[in-house]
Amino acid sequence: MLIIFTVLLFVLGLVFGSFFNVLIWRLPRKQSIVAPRSHCPKCKSQLSLFELIPVISFLLQKGRCRHCKAKISLAYPVVELLTAIGFVFFGLVTTTWLQLLANLFFFSCLLVSAVIDLHHKLILDVITIPGIALALVFSLLEVTVPINLSLLGILIGGGLLLAMAVISKGGMGMGDVKFLAMIGGFLGPYGAMLSLVIASFLGAVIGMIYLVVTKQSRKTPIPFGPFLALGAVAAFVYLNLYI
Ligand SMILES: [Zn+2]
Repeated sequence: MLIIFTVLLFVLGLVFGSFFNVLIWRLPRKQSIVAPRSHCPKCKSQLSLFELIPVISFLLQKGRCRHCKAKISLAYPVVELLTAIGFVFFGLVTTTWLQLLANLFFFSCLLVSAVIDLHHKLILDVITIPGIALALVFSLLEVTVPINLSLLGILIGGGLLLAMAVISKGGMGMGDVKFLAMIGGFLGPYGAMLSLVIASFLGAVIGMIYLVVTKQSRKTPIPFGPFLALGAVAAFVYLNLYI
């Protein structure tokens, strides 16, 4: 039973990952997420059902468009695989369908926000604001942390980064503030703080390596969202496995 559930979560993750690729491309560009149908960004030819199969179509087409042979970014299958792996980890620790929904939704918000931030240095309100609202709803439905902890998580998560944004005078964006508030809504104040500590550590280490390797100045802005998402995943695993 566990194996079947794991495989189902993985396949579901691949399918949703494919949809997230559409969101990641279209949301920051303010395009409709339902129309037009998926197409090659270069030659505009509509993708057939076969070309929409996650990961496998990418491998069979050797990473190129079937029509114009334009290279397809490796980011597409990577997002699909990450979603599949995330769905397995966030799904397996659940005991009810509602909790499953809450966890998969939370992971999806983390992933989509992080990848959009990597590409555009932007964390979208269209994900974080409904994310905060649904964190409260799931909390009231008793599938995540209790409501008092959810509210406290939003206040502390958002508050900590708001303070950092004020002190750093623009070094931290308001998108990050709302993002950590959402994380706090799902994980509570302890989870929000843990996420921030891990994110800051990873951000400092990886950011430094990145600047040295690419020989860029210290003023180069590095998006913090992906680190917050990684921190939240680590905090989620810690809170679910060790407490
Ligand atoms: Zn093409």
